[in-house]
Amino acid sequence: MNERVKELIPEWRERSREPICAYVYDLGSIQKHVREMLQSMPARTGLFYAIKANPDKRIIEALLPLVKGFEVASIGELLKIREVSESVPILFGGPGKKDDELEKAIRNHVTYIHVESLLELRKIIWLAKEWNHPTQILLRINLRTNTLPQTKIAMGGRPSPFGLDEILIEEAISILKESNNTHVRICGFHFHSLSNNLQADLHADMVRLYLQKVKEWKLRYELDVSVINAGGGFGVTYDGEPGFDWSRFTSLLAQSEEFRSLENTELFFEPGRFIVADHGYYVAEVIDIKRSQDQSFAVIRGGTHHNRLPASWGHNHPFRVVPIDEWAYPFPRPEVEGSKVTIVGELCTPKDRLHTDAELRRLRAGDILIFEKSGAYCWTISHHDFLGHPHPEFYYLTEQGEA
Ligand SMILES: *Cc1c(COP(=O)(O)O)cnc(C)c1O
Repeated sequence: MNERVKELIPEWRERSREPICAYVYDLGSIQKHVREMLQSMPARTGLFYAIKANPDKRIIEALLPLVKGFEVASIGELLKIREVSESVPILFGGPGKKDDELEKAIRNHVTYIHVESLLELRKIIWLAKEWNHPTQILLRINLRTNTLPQTKIAMGGRPSPFGLDEILIEEAISILKESNNTHVRICGFHFHSLSNNLQADLHADMVRLYLQKVKEWKLRYELDVSVINAGGGFGVTYDGEPGFDWSRFTSLLAQSEEFRSLENTELFFEPGRFIVADHGYYVAEVIDIKRSQDQSFAVIRGGTHHNRLPASWGHNHPFRVVPIDEWAYPFPRPEVEGSKVTIVGELCTPKDRLHTDAELRRLRAGDILIFEKSGAYCWTISHHDFLGHPHPEFYYLTEQGEA
């Protein structure tokens, strides 16, 4: 954890009487982490950031000079990238793309559209012609296989609304040939089969399978494949266990026959979680401590309306306690000492729970909790206005100092 997160606390307390509730994003450490990732990536690979993990503009700006581009899943996300850069490469995916989204994406120079259905393919051909705009696509393929790593979140290797079944590739190619298409070019394939995979060896096996498959299709359909996008899904742990071993993954891949025989095809990755998860902090003050029957509860200013990940995944989110010695009131300060305590939010629902039965030496009303690993799928997946509490404040740590 970056100790500078704690230094924001006295500053806040000087400025405001309100209990602390904030997100802190450590932009410097995101950049350092991405530089390290890039160092171990072999030639002909490219790193994109899937912004749905955390679409904060400052994070996008911090990554802009480092990554090859960004993966977006809606026109809103796409335009957000175009606000930051007119020319950075964009990959546009997602099921259910609307005509208006496709049209705006094409006109805003999307680099590759990930095609997720045959209807979508027909619409893209039709719109690109109408707008007289060359458009490059990758077909997103959902493989039928039971060899993929098993993770909590799976989009592929099983029936799913994402991408095309392998068996439809032939039809997709004939649609492109037969529709009098003059503008749309298929440049390769996209796969994103799972999220939060922790096993580098299995991930490398999965990507090798993608490469074998594409090699087969290339021969069978006489395709020119310039790009294979192997998706994201590199895992992060929330329980102190080791996370995904990126350099092991990249070295296994670089040594593989499948990768070495790629020739001029570029291989892309588009992680979200793995880039940002460890570099965000959710900071919240303990408002009250209560005993109910045989259990203790700490209620914080904030909760799952700001950080829904622990409720969504049903896990105990890791946090640290920052003890605050001042107590401004003329009455006793509630505390728990040497017993388990469950951390809950300020919402009127029993689902608002961030950590069950934490074992702490001591916790008092007025102490501050720092939830680590809150950089990905935390704020952005939360129902911010449920109950109408004020939103948290946002702070950014940079290499030059806090900003
Ligand atoms: C969400 C998503 C990603 C990023 O997934 P992570 O598990 O955060 O790495 C990448 N590609 C696509 C198509 C996605 O939908």
